Amino acid sequence: MENYFSSKDKKLGILGGGQLGKMLLDITRRYDLYTKVLDPSADAPCATGCKEFVQGNFNDYDTVMAFGADCDVLTIEIESVNTQALKELQSRGKHVFPQPEIVELIQNKVLQKQFYADNQLPTAPWFGFKNKAEMKKKMEKHSFHLPFVWKAATGGYDGRGVMVIRNMADLEKIPDIPGLIEELAAIQHEIALVAARNQAGRVAAFPPVEMSFHPVANQVEYVFCPAKLSETKLEEASQLALSLVDKLGIVGVLAVEMFVNQNGEIWINECAPRVHNSGHLTIEACITSQFEQHLRAILGFPLGSTQLIRPAVMVNLTGEEGFTGPVFYEGAEKMLATEGAYMHLYGKTETRPFRKMGHVTLTAETLEEAREKALKVKEILKVKSV
Ligand code: ADP
Repeated sequence: MENYFSSKDKKLGILGGGQLGKMLLDITRRYDLYTKVLDPSADAPCATGCKEFVQGNFNDYDTVMAFGADCDVLTIEIESVNTQALKELQSRGKHVFPQPEIVELIQNKVLQKQFYADNQLPTAPWFGFKNKAEMKKKMEKHSFHLPFVWKAATGGYDGRGVMVIRNMADLEKIPDIPGLIEELAAIQHEIALVAARNQAGRVAAFPPVEMSFHPVANQVEYVFCPAKLSETKLEEASQLALSLVDKLGIVGVLAVEMFVNQNGEIWINECAPRVHNSGHLTIEACITSQFEQHLRAILGFPLGSTQLIRPAVMVNLTGEEGFTGPVFYEGAEKMLATEGAYMHLYGKTETRPFRKMGHVTLTAETLEEAREKALKVKEILKVKSV
């Protein structure tokens, strides 16, 4: 086994230096790994926690090639990266996890849905198209009726690039770009879970969480663990995610978002080949965190236990509407008096409406108790500008 611990010769390169990278660095520092991070912003959240910081564009072929040249292992904390360069680095003997082919497949929602279809994984009925004219033709052919959901093939993130189409006026708003349309799910619960597969092919799943969304921003506001589902449904969701990581053959973590429909059916909505907002509460609530699990998986180590220690709720701290500029965390001191509250600030100096600035995880004896604390935190702590 290669020795990555306390070594100056074995470098781990991370593409992306945002909050996900910052939380990965908490573990790389604990393990004493040599890290190098690439991000376009000089004051990215990762700029100070790594051994080497490189300012540059992870979507640019030459920049990624130069960045990866002296790395032994490369990973990502964002999926919008130059996969051509990662493939070339892989062919030159670098360990690139998750594998660039898988990142490429997931980057495109049409290819992702096709993968589910080819592997008999349950997902909303759908079809893909190259442009709007083809969409209209296929709608007739498949007798697809309103309402439905439109998604851009690439470039979507946090609800952008997704539209619910309810009438003819909505239909007109669909841009003339490649995409897919799918059936509008009768959602009862939106759940997610982080699963992992290591180099030896071992897999493990964290407990499914339930997500609740902000009505305006269409962004996750709270995450609850465990999800309020029967043992059978929780197990079914875990098995689905494990089957997906197995079929993809991914090395690293995979976050899988799913719908539990009113008729009890589970559909895979989408997945992300990286650590994920829905898994942040694993830091305090589980024996191993998603960040440690990812590093274990990509470095060839055994996976850690995913067992839940205590029920937990995570609150996303996002910029208040009406405030743009240097950030000020109003009520942070008062909030810290809450028992079992773990505050994470991402190190972003500027706030703007709905920007993800941090999160707070609340653990308690029961989920209800953690939920009450989370609601209180949301009331006390506000992300404003000075
Ligand atoms: P993004 O990649 O932007 O996160 P998602 O595919 O996760 O996009 O969609 C964002 C949200 O839109 C989902 O969390 C869900 O609330 C809603 N949504 C997406 N697809 C469907 C669907 N087929 N039926 C009902 N709601 C959906």
